[in-house]
Amino acid sequence: MGETGAGKKEIIFNGIPASPGISFGEVFVVNIEELPITDEKIHADRVEDEIKLFQSALKATEMELTKLHSRLQDEMGEEHAKIFDSHLLILTDEVMAKETLDLIRKKHLNASFAFSTVIDKTLTIFEDMKDEYLKERAEDIRDIKRRLIRNLLGQKVEGLANLRKKAIVVARSLTPSDTAAFKKKYVLAFVTDIGGSTSHAAIIARSQGIPAVVGLEDFSRHAKPYDQVIVDGFTGQVVLHPASETVKLYKRAQVKFREMERQLLKLKDYPAVTLDGHTIELSGNIEIADEVEDVISHGAKGVGLFRTEYFFIVRDTLPSEDEQYKYYSSVVKRLAPDPVIVRTLDIGGDKIAKWAGGEKEDNPFMGWRGIRFTLSRKDIFRTQLRAIYRAAAHGRVRIMFPMISVMDEVRMARSICAEVTEDLKRERYKIGENVEIGIMIETPSAVAIADRLGREVDFFSIGTNDLIQYALAVDRGNRRISYLYDALNPSILLMIRDTVAAAHKNGIWVGVCGEMPASVHGALVLIGLGLDEFSAISYLIPEIKKIIRSVTYDETRSLVRKALNTATAGEVRQLVNDFIYYKRPELREFIPESPS
Ligand code: PEP
Ligand code: MG
Repeated sequence: MGETGAGKKEIIFNGIPASPGISFGEVFVVNIEELPITDEKIHADRVEDEIKLFQSALKATEMELTKLHSRLQDEMGEEHAKIFDSHLLILTDEVMAKETLDLIRKKHLNASFAFSTVIDKTLTIFEDMKDEYLKERAEDIRDIKRRLIRNLLGQKVEGLANLRKKAIVVARSLTPSDTAAFKKKYVLAFVTDIGGSTSHAAIIARSQGIPAVVGLEDFSRHAKPYDQVIVDGFTGQVVLHPASETVKLYKRAQVKFREMERQLLKLKDYPAVTLDGHTIELSGNIEIADEVEDVISHGAKGVGLFRTEYFFIVRDTLPSEDEQYKYYSSVVKRLAPDPVIVRTLDIGGDKIAKWAGGEKEDNPFMGWRGIRFTLSRKDIFRTQLRAIYRAAAHGRVRIMFPMISVMDEVRMARSICAEVTEDLKRERYKIGENVEIGIMIETPSAVAIADRLGREVDFFSIGTNDLIQYALAVDRGNRRISYLYDALNPSILLMIRDTVAAAHKNGIWVGVCGEMPASVHGALVLIGLGLDEFSAISYLIPEIKKIIRSVTYDETRSLVRKALNTATAGEVRQLVNDFIYYKRPELREFIPESPS
């Protein structure tokens, strides 16, 4: 037990499992405490000291930001580091410093109160803005306020980038820029109050192989720095101040998990083929280019989903065509001759880009998102497509459009592809030949017209993360209704069945790139539904391969026939459990169970 944990009563919290694995450690709370600012006035003879205090806090904050900037630049490149450029600009604003000093001198306000009075005025202006981009800047301003005031009060700033030793990161929620700035080796697990299993923070945690639990509601109010905690990313349990017996139980579970991982990796070079000879392509999902190494080391063949938006959301300005070209090419070259499916920008929903602008939306997941965004910002779309076609000259590339809900979007996007390739040829660029064009099937309307869509594209990839949310009308990040967010609901299975039938009728292949194969139940059902390809986060590939190699296609098809006739997700789960227990007991190890 840690210093502050000793003698405290164990408390178990239940959240949503977001990334598997078990971690033990001390809590590191990220930026959520209230700043202890008082409006106490100072004595006239303290004015000069208070001014000096403010000036040195200003210097210290500037140095902190400069250091963060250069660290991020070294680790992730100039574009990622730009986040801190704008922070520095705000901090070094002369008018703000002068107004603060005036308040200290003339009104004898203490430095923290003076500074927060001044910066709060700017903050309110930004908070009230209609433009989403400018509104977002309010978060930057709050960040600077926190930093400077902590320096004034001599407190350490608890930002993720400041994490210097291994810890469990606890936050209300994590934004893309938070997760862009952390050092993987120090993060034992992520624990957040907000979010669902397919929220941004969850996807990043999984892609980095870091255990995570989200949707814990108010855990961050209970956990204090240095408290001991256990995070179980399989079941969603988080144990605060664990008793020694609990620690032992979880340690045993952790050893078992690591051993299982080791065994599974032995399958790396084997094909994903069922016992009766049915092959499924296994490819990897990536968010950033570097993850391509994980794809290779886990034995996936190519990339089935390259979420390019992550390259765009961690920066303040749009990447140029050449920057994108280099970025995509690095992945394409590394994997050639295996294919890379590059998905065009899927901005919107919970993936907000600072440069994108736009009004605040009441329902962002049903708003200006994915293909809707790129078709209305053709300048951005064309630049991205040009970069992708140029990168395609270095290997095998397929292009995929997200969030298709009507046929017109496919036609418009395809015609822009045709124009872009013409332009590039005219300009004598070397581009990829025969670049296939496919779409994500992730809206119910796309499922309904899948047979027609299938005539106009080269492949489908089913985005179960969104399909579930739109089909069941359940926000994928909302904890209160997460019990409804269930891939095994027969309505989802029926939609997948229809999509597969529509694809095969048109002679095209169909994959799945949402998180559904992440559970043994989801994977078994998807095999039986006849998907041609699974694309998943790399670390899951060995497990999925093992599941495929443990069953016959025939038996999963008959399992699915029964599942399609049920009325509830519970019945489907029961059928799959029975299948595992009575037919393939060796798969039981993939059913998560709580050690406590
Ligand atoms: C999906 O919706 O299933 C998907 C793969 O896309 P994303 O999670 O990026 O929305
Ligand atoms: Mg999606």
